[in-house]
Amino acid sequence: CGIVGYIGIREAYPILMDGLHRLEYRGYDSAGVALVSDSGNLNVYKSKGNVSDLESVVSDKDCVGTVGIAHTRWATHGVPSEANSHPHISGSGDITLVHNGIIENYATLKEQLIEKGYTFKSETDTEVLVQLIQYTKDSVPDCNLAMAVRLALKKIIGAYAISVIDRREPDRLVCARKSSPLAIGVTEGNKEIFIASDASPIAAYTKHIIYLNDGEIAVCERGMDVQVFNLDNEKISPEVKEVDIDLNMLS
Ligand code: GLU
Repeated sequence: CGIVGYIGIREAYPILMDGLHRLEYRGYDSAGVALVSDSGNLNVYKSKGNVSDLESVVSDKDCVGTVGIAHTRWATHGVPSEANSHPHISGSGDITLVHNGIIENYATLKEQLIEKGYTFKSETDTEVLVQLIQYTKDSVPDCNLAMAVRLALKKIIGAYAISVIDRREPDRLVCARKSSPLAIGVTEGNKEIFIASDASPIAAYTKHIIYLNDGEIAVCERGMDVQVFNLDNEKISPEVKEVDIDLNMLS
């Protein structure tokens, strides 16, 4: 039950894996990672078991990409398995998402999406959210990823910390929270932006952290200030805290 994300100028994979190791203390039953290359290729790898099991699965695979998300899962809906592990991918294969928490109205939303022709590969509550984001992006005119995430979240009842990427928008990472924690590490000029469930995966890279509040969504773009909105699309000025964490305590 942890989330990590990165968008920047370095290869994301080692940063994401280091982050997952630092969140291992929270407990989990499976893990996964998604990476988008600059040319828009999306690769998703997952495995039941621990983060080292995931690393073995990934060892001979293509891990190129300067934007990515990763997850450790504590199963609530659906057994621990590769199919139920996050990241989950939308039917079109474009959008991918990691989620901590529980989507309480997932059964109703799933029925509605199935009626619209969507198919599901997992038993999780989470997959409903990624399909709902895809549906919103496809059905609302001029809808980008940030707008699709915001409109989809307005229909969600439950708790979430999420991080979402779309291979058609490789310069952007969108994250949001309600009743589950989420921290965003920002850097000088925001050449790199780090996302995590708590500050421990971020502390090695930056002291400057935005803690999202309930009902807030953040749009993270390389080289840009992180933009924060509420679910009604009102802009919020985020407070950047200076956080001192003793890295020796973390290693
Ligand atoms: N409810 C989701 C699932 O079962 C997320 C669990 C978690 O917080 O790790 O897949």
